[in-house]
Amino acid sequence: MITDNLREIRQAIQDSCAFAHRNPEDVTLIAVTKTVDSEAARVLVDSGITHLAENRVDKLLKKQYDLRDKTHLKWHLIGNLQRRKVKSIINEIDFFHALDSLSLAAEIDKRALKTISCFVEVNISGEETKHGISPEEIESFISQLSSFTNIKIVGLMTMAPHGANEQELHDIFSRLKILQENVRQRTLAHAPCTELSMGMSNDFPIAIEEGSTFIRIGTALFKDA
Ligand SMILES: *Cc1c(COP(=O)(O)O)cnc(C)c1O
Repeated sequence: MITDNLREIRQAIQDSCAFAHRNPEDVTLIAVTKTVDSEAARVLVDSGITHLAENRVDKLLKKQYDLRDKTHLKWHLIGNLQRRKVKSIINEIDFFHALDSLSLAAEIDKRALKTISCFVEVNISGEETKHGISPEEIESFISQLSSFTNIKIVGLMTMAPHGANEQELHDIFSRLKILQENVRQRTLAHAPCTELSMGMSNDFPIAIEEGSTFIRIGTALFKDA
């Protein structure tokens, strides 16, 4: 049952926060609904979930339409976004988690009718198949975004490689935390960078220990749905 899964995840968040001496209110649970239909998403919303994520533009718009009676929801686009699709989605979402190029930033800036809260995606592990800016390039990449007045960098995001062990996960997430702190301390007007989007079904307790403020959970919510 989705509601049982949700209860377990909430408990696990509480436990990880207690272990790390963190306030659970500082960790936002984003439900990733990409593998389920709108009715399953509605069950979560009725159980108190307010943050929903999709990785595809068309699926996000569909869920938004189906749940249009729920006006308080926050919508996250977590997948990579093609420039030609920016126009159709960017003003419909609250957060974009996968900013990883200047050309995409330029397109977002051009199409935005409001300030768009973005996470810069970082490829910590250096896997060639992964999207994201390399850690060495983060500082200069973020500096170059300052001319885009419609873009606000709220934080950094990463995806840990599949099959990483616990020590590797701690290492990856703590490195993202250090990068985020470095940007935050520059107190850039366009990049407050106070947030960390890291942690998925298999690794969120470790991500919370390392300072995550937004965890993106799919499978663990819907494993038997
Ligand atoms: C699918 C997805 C998630 C959720 O992953 P689970 O392992 O199912 O929890 C999180 N982040 C991104 C970017 C995703 O594409």
